Amino acid sequence: MQIKSSFNKIDNVVISGGTHGNEATGVYLIEEWEKDCSFLKRNSFETDFFCSNPRAVDLNLRYTETDLNRCFLDKDLEDESAVSYEELLAYKIKNNLKKNYAGKTTLLVDMHTTTSNMGINIMCDDEAPNLLLAAMVKHRLPEVHVYCIKKSDRTDSCLRSSGTYGIGIEVGPIPQGILRHDVVESMRKAVAAVLDIAHEINTGGADETPFSIEYFSHIAEVAYPDGPFGDAMIHKDLEGRDYEILHPGDNIFYGAECGNIQYEGKEEVHPVFINEAAYYEKGLAFSTVKKEHREFKLLK
Ligand SMILES: [Zn+2]
Repeated sequence: MQIKSSFNKIDNVVISGGTHGNEATGVYLIEEWEKDCSFLKRNSFETDFFCSNPRAVDLNLRYTETDLNRCFLDKDLEDESAVSYEELLAYKIKNNLKKNYAGKTTLLVDMHTTTSNMGINIMCDDEAPNLLLAAMVKHRLPEVHVYCIKKSDRTDSCLRSSGTYGIGIEVGPIPQGILRHDVVESMRKAVAAVLDIAHEINTGGADETPFSIEYFSHIAEVAYPDGPFGDAMIHKDLEGRDYEILHPGDNIFYGAECGNIQYEGKEEVHPVFINEAAYYEKGLAFSTVKKEHREFKLLK
């Protein structure tokens, strides 16, 4: 089945960095653009950018009280008992976006990094406009992985869901809190591709010929058998092998007491976010995705 969609004219592209305060790449680029934003200019829309969690950035922490990128569900924003710094910040960001872009079509692009060996990823929900946009980025930059998660409270709680359209860019591997030239370049390249595609959609320059790409759909999260920093760690056979094939029976954990532990799923899957530092606090070791292959088409 073909995945097809049209887009409203995009009035504003809004780029955020620092949603996780210890992901320095996005913060660096926001600061670069504050000095000179000519890189972001396309003449069919305005491009704005902001640092979304400055307090966490100052402290070099993912967040200070709660993960900002899980605070954007409308029902949570209306919850009067929501009092953490990030819950209030999400409320403020969403209200500002509503006020500043009333009646406009916005594309929100949220910049993230991962400690996992995942390369450049476009993160999106599985609904046509966002997934088509992500597919168009992959069509232009074949090295990109498209990682989609079924539209749900999980995707709607992300900052990127606050735009008419929204995608995340996730680049790795890079440790938390540090800068790497190659990762900055990858992020810049992905941002430029998104801006070029938005401009082509607006001006009728985008190719409407159907095209096929591979992308990945989220299946599940896999927890450490005994919690984070227990006996089991990611097995050396799995380490760094994001997006490769994981077969039933392959080694996934090793521990001095537990020995080798194998993957007990019934089917081949692709592991991602392997040994992601940010997920230790949740006890998550990696996630699994499945490869999909579809035809996409941009409608006028
Ligand atoms: Zn992040």
